[in-house]
Amino acid sequence: MITGKNYIGETLSGEGETTYKTIDPATNTENGTTFFEATKEEVDLAVEKAAKAFPVYKVKSAIEKADFLETIATELEANAEALKEMYRNESGLPEGRSNGEFARTTGQLRAFAQMLKEGSWVEAIISNPEGKPDIRRMQVPFGPVAVFGASNFPFAFSTAGGDTASALASGSPVVVKSHPMHAGTGELVAEAIIKAAKKTGMPDGVFSNLNSKGIEVGEWLVKHPRIKAVGFTGSFKAGTALSKLGAQRDEPIPVYAEMGSINPVIALPSALNEKAQFWAEQYAGSITAGSGQFCTNPGLILGIKSPKLDDFTRFLGENIKKIQPSVMLHPNIKKQYDSSKGEMLQQENYTVIAEFEGNVAENFGTQQIIKVPGVQFLQNKNFHKEVFGPFSIVVECEDKAQLTEIIQNLEGQLTGTVLNAEEKELYEYKETIDALTESVGRIIYNSVPTGVEVCAAMTHGGPFPATSNPKFTSVGLTAVQRWVRPVSYQDWPNALLPEALKNGNPLQITRDLNGKFTQDSI
Ligand code: NAP
Repeated sequence: MITGKNYIGETLSGEGETTYKTIDPATNTENGTTFFEATKEEVDLAVEKAAKAFPVYKVKSAIEKADFLETIATELEANAEALKEMYRNESGLPEGRSNGEFARTTGQLRAFAQMLKEGSWVEAIISNPEGKPDIRRMQVPFGPVAVFGASNFPFAFSTAGGDTASALASGSPVVVKSHPMHAGTGELVAEAIIKAAKKTGMPDGVFSNLNSKGIEVGEWLVKHPRIKAVGFTGSFKAGTALSKLGAQRDEPIPVYAEMGSINPVIALPSALNEKAQFWAEQYAGSITAGSGQFCTNPGLILGIKSPKLDDFTRFLGENIKKIQPSVMLHPNIKKQYDSSKGEMLQQENYTVIAEFEGNVAENFGTQQIIKVPGVQFLQNKNFHKEVFGPFSIVVECEDKAQLTEIIQNLEGQLTGTVLNAEEKELYEYKETIDALTESVGRIIYNSVPTGVEVCAAMTHGGPFPATSNPKFTSVGLTAVQRWVRPVSYQDWPNALLPEALKNGNPLQITRDLNGKFTQDSI
């Protein structure tokens, strides 16, 4: 049974007068529970509890923290059916997606637990050459983290998602601002985290979950002097507003905002000569997957004018029209899709390739593909904007030089993709591909950009405006690096050094010892 209240650490609290309900977008009706917007006092209390929990939590051993993360996964699984049902009722996402995202979320928690047990993630570096000071460095957490739940991943990027899992792994308490569109899912997930915290002996305040439908709760969190970093996934508008707030504080803090991308795809001539129909099918599926509500949705496909590009474009249109539209996450997101698509269609000099023409229920996003000549795309920056939903532009370039110029003029992106069938062509297009690599966080060969693996080598990030900080990723194990800072111990007595830096290497981790990676003791 959910209560609609906030978790202020272990305590359920609903003091506020402002309330709201979530919506089932598939039926366009309100769900039952009334949620209590967190008050300023509740926000302050949650952050104070997190600050108090920090010194206790950060010194828990890696094994204890790993146990906490694994127990969260187990607690989620113990309530899996209720969680998935709530997820579907609040997001309109289908059963397959709820299963997949749920497994990804528990898998992610267990992967961070494994990382903690292995231990080398602290990046221990020891420099102690003869006749010089003995300097030993490692990464340490810097304090309570505020996490904003993302609308498009109610499990994997929200309450117990990648930001929370990585921050808890780093040794930082977390205060979540729950996404208002799936507050019920958020509360059920929070309940599992609180149960796990109690079972594994974690301090009260290591985790809090705050409900909010307005922007104040988020602003209070980012401005609170005891919050030391922020994780966010959502719109450019909100991400840049929160980044500014973080930078304007008396003590500025990092706001890691992942804000979206049009994910350019270069379809090289050889790929279209060999497999125009195959790629058209693949991309029709990728553009419409999850009703286009993925940050890595392919919003831009670029090719060089030719009969083969014409074939590909025609096939793409034919395939796109066949796909049954799906419901979007929320009436507001559907409204924004319609308005940003509407703005795009106000531009001049494009051709509509295909749009879904059948009747659909309310809140369903109908897909559309347009084609724009390269010269128009270069001149009109409005074509470069993200349309969050099942919408994509095919750009017909005059030649390689124009394709390269377009790529050089794109803003920062999460992903870039190259489709190709002949290796030698990759050398011919080296300048174009180099330019693409320069503006993206992940460069993909012969695939679709949707689908983001959670693994150690993943970069889900990229130059601004894809994110607010191109040095980091919000998916994968190195996401933990957003919540830590390096400390160097100089000539410190061995007995008082952290375990990771002691002479005997008691944790048996891999360390950089005078330039050599080793598990040796000193
Ligand atoms: P959003 O508008 O960015 O909101 C995300 C969260 O930030 C919400 O909890 C929201 O609070 C809060 N927020 C918004 N503006 C804020 C501000 N100025 N200060 C403090 N907090 C603020 O995203 P959304 O609600 O998920 O969806 C809206 C649009 O965002 C979508 O249509 C899409 O264009 C974009 N989006 C992009 C991605 C991506 O990865 N590219 C992912 C999700 C969404 P309230 O809702 O309580 O106001």
